[in-house]
Amino acid sequence: SLFGLPEQPAHERVLLAADPATGLKAIVALHSTARGPAFGGCRLWHYDSDAAALNDALRLSQGMSLKNALADLPFGGGKAVILKPPGAFDRPALFAAFGRAVQSLGGAYITAEDVGTTTADMRGLQAVTPFVSGIPRDGAFGGDPSPKTAWGVFVAIQAGARLVLGRTSLEGVRVALQGLGAVGWHLAEFLHAAGAKLVVADVDAAKVERAVAQFGAVAVGVADILAAEVDVLAPCALGASLNEQTVPTLRAKLIAGAANNQLATPADGDALQRRGICYLPDYLVNAGGIISVAREYRGEGEEAAVMAEVSRIAERVEELLLRVQAADSTPARVADDWARSKLVHQP
Ligand code: NAD
Repeated sequence: SLFGLPEQPAHERVLLAADPATGLKAIVALHSTARGPAFGGCRLWHYDSDAAALNDALRLSQGMSLKNALADLPFGGGKAVILKPPGAFDRPALFAAFGRAVQSLGGAYITAEDVGTTTADMRGLQAVTPFVSGIPRDGAFGGDPSPKTAWGVFVAIQAGARLVLGRTSLEGVRVALQGLGAVGWHLAEFLHAAGAKLVVADVDAAKVERAVAQFGAVAVGVADILAAEVDVLAPCALGASLNEQTVPTLRAKLIAGAANNQLATPADGDALQRRGICYLPDYLVNAGGIISVAREYRGEGEEAAVMAEVSRIAERVEELLLRVQAADSTPARVADDWARSKLVHQP
């Protein structure tokens, strides 16, 4: 196993970048460039160990390969994590050093926002490398991908509610939202506008209070959100929320959310199926953001066209559920096979 970590997927290339002057310690993982340059966001996060950071980068970059392939984008999968320096640090200098690491890959990896990084960080990177996206541009399409990610999750929930729950509209459908961050908040807005009843939790009490005031949401504790009595669960915080401990407690019949790597292990997807819970794979439903930054990067972006492309996630949910029926398998395993079949060199 790679670096002694268990069950690691095979990656084409992994860059460990360090810059003592700025405190940069970063990992850039290129899982696959079969479809094109590896494209995926950059996470700034505090990790308990270097191995945990490496594990995250490897898992996230593999997820990007599958996500970009299922979204039919001409890009491979990669992801970067910057280990948050302890104490105060010079953020522009740190990102400039990270930008030099991205530049050193000569375009094999293209970066954008992820958890802990902002459009301002991406703008800073742009001074050092052209291999960056997710930047607001005057008079042109671009910027924060999270509203597009939220839209993709929303249309996936609509499709799932229709096909799995037999609901023709989201009016009165109960949705539990774990995390009211950049994506979760936009998703709450879309769901509320569609008449859904929201149950919410976030470690940030101020966000929860706003959701209660603005959407009439019911607030529950972070320990209780996954087991809330709802129709749909939307994990929009961090990964591995669906695991051995939580799966037996879930009461939703449908899961669709933005968080990457929601299943702790493939076996947790099997356990969901046994419990009669339909899990729509994260990398299928949360592709809206990468579709947005990929179109922006190629200079092909235009708001209505990108939204229409993101809306096609609903068609993929429908196709996935048909494939699941035909294969007598689980959505997670079928999506994995489907995506891997597309990890081939593009003409
Ligand atoms: P974010 O950091 O803005 O929001 C995450 C939110 O979750 C925060 O409000 C945080 O307080 C909350 N949170 C953390 N731990 C929690 C817990 N245990 N219970 C409840 N809430 C908790 O991040 P984001 O950009 O909204 O992304 C959310 C997830 O979606 C991440 O896993 C990210 O990788 C994934 N994702 C994001 C995008 C995007 O466009 N931003 C695209 C694809 C996937």
